[in-house]
Amino acid sequence: MAKHNYDDWKALAGALTFRNQAWINGRFQDAQSGETFVCVNPATEATLAEVASCDSADVDIAVASARQTFDSGVWSERSPAERKQVLLKLAELLEQHQDEFALLDTLDMGKSISETSGLDIPSSIGCWRWTAEAVDKVYGEIAPTGNDALALMTREPIGVIGAIVPWNYPLMMATWKLAPALAAGNSVVLKPSEKSPLSALRLAELAQQAGLPDGVLNVLPGFGHTAGKALALHMDVDVLVFTGSTRVAGMLMEYAGQSNLKRVWLEAGGKSPNIVFDDCDDIKEAAANAAVAIFGNQGEVCIAASRLYLQKGIKDEFLAALAEAAKAFQPGDPLDPATTMGPMVDGTQLDTVNRYVQSGLDEGGELLIGGVRQHREGEGYFAQPTIITGANNDMTMVREEIFGPVLAVCEFETEEEAIRLANDSKYGLGASVWTSNLKRAHRVSRKIQSGMVWVNGWGDGDQTVAFGGVKGSGNGRDKSLHALEKYTELKTIWFRL
Ligand code: NAD
Repeated sequence: MAKHNYDDWKALAGALTFRNQAWINGRFQDAQSGETFVCVNPATEATLAEVASCDSADVDIAVASARQTFDSGVWSERSPAERKQVLLKLAELLEQHQDEFALLDTLDMGKSISETSGLDIPSSIGCWRWTAEAVDKVYGEIAPTGNDALALMTREPIGVIGAIVPWNYPLMMATWKLAPALAAGNSVVLKPSEKSPLSALRLAELAQQAGLPDGVLNVLPGFGHTAGKALALHMDVDVLVFTGSTRVAGMLMEYAGQSNLKRVWLEAGGKSPNIVFDDCDDIKEAAANAAVAIFGNQGEVCIAASRLYLQKGIKDEFLAALAEAAKAFQPGDPLDPATTMGPMVDGTQLDTVNRYVQSGLDEGGELLIGGVRQHREGEGYFAQPTIITGANNDMTMVREEIFGPVLAVCEFETEEEAIRLANDSKYGLGASVWTSNLKRAHRVSRKIQSGMVWVNGWGDGDQTVAFGGVKGSGNGRDKSLHALEKYTELKTIWFRL
């Protein structure tokens, strides 16, 4: 990608056009009801687009279209090698349009252009490419039965996948579901977040250009309680895959139970602990990581390390280094490549952040930096990077996911206490452990209840490595070959010899 400066990005943003209708059966169309909702740029509060607001009528049409194409075999029965070629072509088209996608996500949800252009879009392209390349290299199994039988265990596409995704990494979260679902041969109905539907709609159009047959991918912008709920309750959706809050994840399990027992795979919320032992050999590095881990993407990150546990003895040194590192994160115009923090996605999210900061102070915490930032009409939903010390596990801000740039700092004395405090959470997504003691690193990593543990790091990830959580953070895994497990049916075929 060409390196653009602030003026370039502003000019490109000014020239951008938006797809604003539902994508069903290979064409854009209004919602059946004719209803729309407004997409707002959270940095300026200007309206970007009026987007079709889908509901159950549109869901019925999209699911029927997905079912019809699945049953026709036009995609589901193509060889993995042929599907691979289409998805590789899509990756190539995304690459050609990567500036456009970076802008769509930056304008729609407020994250910095350096992050969308440097991380979200390239890693989404990487996910499409890797998954496409993987799908014709996965073999079935022959079971070690007796000589009088041949038992095959094969992986088949399942049918119609309903995918519901959040707004914090719009293209990336959609990609983590769509790439394996489509590579495996399924048809999909995707409902992006009502706060960030624009990149998914453009993606659908490019998928058609890449050769994906009409009806295999449908994208329905709309609200959770209308379009999302209808999709989750639909009797002809076989699998529901979701990334979003733990609250909605629970509702989806209920909807599955009330309808057809569709399988539900959930990537939900987090409250990740970051444990720093006094034998950590690089306090500066650990502090710099602690700042990125809570202020990066404005803290709107599922794995945000929002609970910092410092071993007694290093607190003062660590907090001084942390306050210094936090200076790198100042809210600014997300179109400026120098900006490290954009606005919150909307006014509701800013109110939530402010409420938790206030509750942290009311419940006895002390402000190290930041604080409540009042919204000024028309100036964007910017929050302040905030660190509250003297926190403990009884405080609301330590127990609940905030999803903003607010860090709670707690203290501990022993290894056992650190493990107990880290595990004292309904969530279990990520955790960091900072220590130079190898045995301790292994011991603690094993005892932490989370899907992912980073030792002397935070947030490391790769397309080859599984991503996901335990407890209230969900089930199943995105990325890696394990992602394909959610989108394929294990079929047994016996031959009696
Ligand atoms: P959310 O749960 O409010 O919304 C997620 C999606 O669900 C949206 O598309 C929304 O429209 C839809 N939805 C809402 N109510 C629904 C209903 N009743 N029925 C069906 N669908 C419904 O979450 P959000 O605010 O968009 O995203 C933030 C959350 O996502 C945070 O909790 C964050 O931790 C989580 N997240 C998790 C991961 C992960 O991999 N575990 C990754 C990113 C974000």
